[in-house]
Amino acid sequence: MQQFIDSYDFTGKKAIVRVDFNVPLNENFEITDDTRIRRAMPTLKKVLEKGGAVIIMSHLGRPKKVDPKFSLKHIVARVSECLGVPVKFADDCMKADELAAALKPGEALLLENLRYYAEEEGKPRGLAEDATDEEKKAAKKVVKESQKEFVKKLASYADCYINDAFGTAHRAHASTALIAEYFPNDKMFGYLMEGEIKAIDNVLKNAQRPLTAIIGGSKVSSKLAVLKNLVGKVDNLIIGGGMGFTFVKAQGGHIGNSLHEDDLMPDALEILQIAKEKGVNVSLSVATVAAQEFSNDAERKVFDIYNIPDGWEGMDASPASLEIWKKIILSSKTILWNGPVGVFELPNFAKGTLEIAELLAQATADGAYTLVGGGDSVAAVTKMGYADKVSYVSTGGGAMLEAIEGKVLPGIAAIQD
Ligand code: AMP
Repeated sequence: MQQFIDSYDFTGKKAIVRVDFNVPLNENFEITDDTRIRRAMPTLKKVLEKGGAVIIMSHLGRPKKVDPKFSLKHIVARVSECLGVPVKFADDCMKADELAAALKPGEALLLENLRYYAEEEGKPRGLAEDATDEEKKAAKKVVKESQKEFVKKLASYADCYINDAFGTAHRAHASTALIAEYFPNDKMFGYLMEGEIKAIDNVLKNAQRPLTAIIGGSKVSSKLAVLKNLVGKVDNLIIGGGMGFTFVKAQGGHIGNSLHEDDLMPDALEILQIAKEKGVNVSLSVATVAAQEFSNDAERKVFDIYNIPDGWEGMDASPASLEIWKKIILSSKTILWNGPVGVFELPNFAKGTLEIAELLAQATADGAYTLVGGGDSVAAVTKMGYADKVSYVSTGGGAMLEAIEGKVLPGIAAIQD
C-alpha cells in the first residue's frame, strides 16, 4: 500500500531514498550544475525533520564496472552542504550494513554508485562481442538471479523506501522499482516524484482546455510515440525543429538540405490524418530561418517552409511561424513543451526556442498551466530566467517522454501497485 511522506511516521525509522544525483562533473570532479541535488532536498530534509534517518542511493553516469571517475564521493560535500548535516559515505553499496545500522535519527548516509554493480540495471556485462543469443540469454539469467540478492541487501538497510528519482522512473532497475516489493506497506514517492506525476496528470488527465503541445527536436523517430499519443489528446499540436521537415516533405514540400527521415514520412502522414479526423489543429512552421552550412556564423535567409532551395537547411523557426504560434500559445489554458524549435546550441539559431520560452512565461502569467521538459527546452527557460515563471520544469527527460507517450513508468507502478 502506498504511503505519503506527510502522513508517514518516520520517528526512529531509516528511509532508503532513491534519488537522481546524476549531476554533471567537470574534469576536476566539481559539480557544474547541482539542480538535481537541490531538487531532492525537500524529501530528504522532511524525513530528517520527522525524526528519521536517510540512506541515500543514486547512480552517476554509466560506469560498466567500479570506476573512480563515477564515484559519488565527489558529491558528498555538496550533499552535506545542501542537507545541512554531515553526510556519511559507504564506498560500496553492498557493504553498508554497519554504517546503516549505526545511523541515528537526523543522520544521513550516501551509498556509492549503484551502477558499479551490473545488478542495478539487471543487464549482463562483459559479454564477448560475438556472443551467441544462447550465451546472452544465459548471462542475463545469471545477472537476474544475483539481482535478487542485490535488491534484498539494499532493502535490508532500511525500514521504508522512498522513490524520488523521476529521472530514472522509466527504468525497472533494482533501486527504482524492484526494491519496492520489500516494503509493501512502507513505500512512497518523494516530493519531487509527486510533483512530476501531478504535472503530467495536469496535462494528460486533468487539462484545462484548450490544450496545446509544442513538440520539437531533431527527429520524428525519437518522438513518434509521443506525437501519436498526443494527437489523440490535444487541441493544438505545434511541431517544430528538425522533425517538422519530415512532415513538410511528406506533404510534397521541397525542403532543400533540411533534416528529415524519409522512412518516417508514412507515420507523419498518419499523424496528420488522425489530427484531421479528430479536429486537432496541427501547426507546422510556415517559414524557416535557413543556412547553407551548419554553423553559427553562416549567412541566414528566411524561406517558405515548402520551398527551401537546394543547398539550404532549415535551422530555426521564423518570425512568421512564431507569430502564429504566439496566438495559439496565448489562447491556451494548458501547454506542454518538449524539444527545441531550432538548432538551440547555435546562438544565431536559438531565437525561436528562446521566444517559445518567453511565450510560455507570458501564458503562465495569464493563468495557463505550463509544463516544460527535455534538455534544450529546460535550458531555454533557464537561460531566459523563466524557470520560476512557468508552472513546472520537469527533471526527467526520458522519463517525461515515456510518460507523455502514455506508458506506465515502472518506478511509479512499483509504488502505486
Ligand atoms: P531532441 O534530442 O530530439 O530533443 O532534439 C534536440 C536537438 O534537435 C538539438 O540538438 C537541436 O540542435 C536539434 N534541432 C532542432 N531543430 C533542428 C533543425 N531545424 N535542424 C537540425 N537540428 C535541429
